[in-house]
Amino acid sequence: MTPAAPPHTYDVTAVRADFPILAREVNGKPLVYLDNAATTQRPEAVVNAIADFYRTSNSNVHRGVHRLSQEATELFEAARTTMARFLGADTHEIVFTRGTTEGINLVAAAYGRANVGAGDEIVVSRMEHHANIVPWQLLCEQTGARLRVAPITDDGALDMDALAGLIGERTKIVAVGHISNALGTINPIQEIARLAHAVGAIIVVDGAQGAPHGHVDVRALDVDFYALSGHKMYGPTGIGVVYGRKTLLDAMPPWQGGGDMIRSVTFEKTTYNDAPFRFEAGTPNIAGAIGLAAAADYLRDVGLDAIAAHEAALLEYGTAQLAKVEGLRMIGTAPHKAGVLGFVLEGIHPHDIGTILDSEGVAVRTGHHCAQPVMERFGVPATARASLGLYNTPAEIDALVAALTKVREVFA
Ligand code: PLP
Repeated sequence: MTPAAPPHTYDVTAVRADFPILAREVNGKPLVYLDNAATTQRPEAVVNAIADFYRTSNSNVHRGVHRLSQEATELFEAARTTMARFLGADTHEIVFTRGTTEGINLVAAAYGRANVGAGDEIVVSRMEHHANIVPWQLLCEQTGARLRVAPITDDGALDMDALAGLIGERTKIVAVGHISNALGTINPIQEIARLAHAVGAIIVVDGAQGAPHGHVDVRALDVDFYALSGHKMYGPTGIGVVYGRKTLLDAMPPWQGGGDMIRSVTFEKTTYNDAPFRFEAGTPNIAGAIGLAAAADYLRDVGLDAIAAHEAALLEYGTAQLAKVEGLRMIGTAPHKAGVLGFVLEGIHPHDIGTILDSEGVAVRTGHHCAQPVMERFGVPATARASLGLYNTPAEIDALVAALTKVREVFA
């Protein structure tokens, strides 16, 4: 049975009105934006928060006694508190970064170099984004540690038995994604945290796709680090946070040196600032942090549970509609999935799909999605990926399906 379109308990029309870009046309057709896993659009509230900062309070933070610097510092630190609340953490457990990639690199460099040595093991899964693979490979090269890779099943779920078998007394770090950007799989983070902690390892979560799609509580998940990107959660590019458990952050050495991360500097001896400032060398992305906090507030106001329910209904609808497209094979059909619809069409290269969809105003991503091991696992060079956000509608799924029918006609 084809599921009905999502019920209208959620006012998607009102939500869409918050995003001016959604009103534009592409190639003479209404924009259908289905590339949210790559980056989301920004609501007016985020654009205004950034513009207001530059218009009224712009200054550098932490160093000035003058009024504007104090205002900028207050706004920046309030943004930290907002992000702490968003993740269920304490303010001093939030480190501002450029995004998920930098957050994971920070943990690999600062925690990793201090705690991982030759013969130790780092466990990742096969469904990771390159951002949650390469920093660990670098750490292994630097320390002599070994990377172990947990396999995924044919439907794209993490093979939990195999993962449990890989986590042992040599394991120091388990690094997994909350939600796969290529497959949509939602991983059982609490269970993985339990397995890691049982052997004294820590768990690092790539939350790039987790944060925008539902309520994240780092205490309930019992994770040690959780990295996210502003631009994946309707905030600005160039800003993100990594949550770190306080006891771990406090014990970690810095990873980058410069202004703001020090307490005192002499040529004889430099001492370092407390966490989280110790990990934020140089002038931060102040407007970005303020914009990110505005995005977190926006998501809270719309309601993260409501967003998750809306996207789940849309995913179910989209999955059923796409199944009707001749020759379409879905890549990623795990039972516990978020709004990612990755697929291939028999005999048609994903890039051709993307180009023809664009001519119909439909924006999807095509390629390997920075997850080449996933593509290899499923025996495809690339997929086309429609990824859902809080403003997408069943009518946009219908537009995608109609455009795919045109793709088929072109290649008939
Ligand atoms: N991890 C996942 C699962 C992602 O989807 C992405 C971005 O696509 C990243 C990490 C990297 O995020 P960023 O480029 O914002 O650092």
